[in-house]
Amino acid sequence: MHIDDIMQGGSPTFSFEFFPPKTRDAAEMLYKTIRDLESYMPDFVSVTYGAGGSTRELTHDLVERIQHTTKLDPVPHLTCVCHNEEEIETILARYARSAIANILALGGDRPTAMAYDKSRDSFQHAIDLVKFVRRFNESGAHPDARGFGIGVAGFPEGHPATPNRLREMDYFKAKVDAGAHYIVTQLFFDNRDFFDFRERCALAGVHIPIIAGIMPITSISGLKRMAELAGGARFPAKLLRALNSCQDNPETVRTVGIQYALEQCHELIAERVRGIHFYTLNRSDATRTIFDSLGIRRDRSAEASSR
Ligand SMILES: Cc1cc2nc3c(=O)[nH]c(=O)nc-3n(C[C@H](O)[C@H](O)[C@H](O)COP(=O)(O)OP(=O)(O)OC[C@H]3O[C@@H](n4cnc5c(N)ncnc54)[C@H](O)[C@@H]3O)c2cc1C
Repeated sequence: MHIDDIMQGGSPTFSFEFFPPKTRDAAEMLYKTIRDLESYMPDFVSVTYGAGGSTRELTHDLVERIQHTTKLDPVPHLTCVCHNEEEIETILARYARSAIANILALGGDRPTAMAYDKSRDSFQHAIDLVKFVRRFNESGAHPDARGFGIGVAGFPEGHPATPNRLREMDYFKAKVDAGAHYIVTQLFFDNRDFFDFRERCALAGVHIPIIAGIMPITSISGLKRMAELAGGARFPAKLLRALNSCQDNPETVRTVGIQYALEQCHELIAERVRGIHFYTLNRSDATRTIFDSLGIRRDRSAEASSR
């Protein structure tokens, strides 16, 4: 379903993010997780994209497997890193043939395991990718006359590469105006950062839906990994105090982390968030617990068809 159709309903959307596993066993385990979460009828599920090599093919394969064997709407991530125009065109054509409805267009993380020269990429920033997908849409090569719905990333706490926050918003607004339909944010642990970002977007004239990225902390090692992966993320004292007090008891850490994310979700929903996107880290348990506690109807298909 095109994101414009998904967003038409009055209630917030719910979506999950997965990354493509590297081994066959892990792939089967993930597929089980996906089937497990399918009963919650998320509005879409997104699949991340690596910086190069074989993991990229795994993304395409996983996206097509979800599309062809489940009732879910997969949203592939696509990045500027190590790509030329021809390659991106080929990927878009492949996704269009599979009737993939939406794409998340990203700058992409720099590869760490190989030499990388950014100046060789055809697209320097996500805005260039957004423009390219829009041109593809206009060519009529997609089965939906509107083409792909285009998502972009937003950073409530700011993106580390642009410390000047006013200039950052100018770049961001230009990216949205280039043809984006919706925004998914980086994870955050203080809702005030999200609400402030939303207000700053409105002030700048950015009015497309903003979906909030939420990641339940389920272990101390997961917390440390997140600090590394989502560089610049702030961890509020309230969260750290709660986790520190039980750090020797993994089960309690998990309960505390999930409870924290649940409170974030309750407040976001009360403040009329357009959607919540769960960074699942390929596990269903924490997301399921939150989903169940939010009291959201499991079968959202009836709601979707009545939109
Ligand atoms: C929801 C979400 C999903 C993600 N999924 C993936 C994934 O699957 N794979 C992956 O590799 N990474 C992923 N990332 C990480 C993301 O690709 C990186 O954080 C990247 O550095 C920023 O991406 P962007 O799309 O915002 O890039 P951009 O919009 O290109 O912005 C990157 C930086 O460049 C600056 N900038 C923009 N335009 C200009 C300009 N004209 N001149 C100078 N500076 C400019 C911006 O202010 C920002 O600091 C994801 C991030 C999010 C929030």
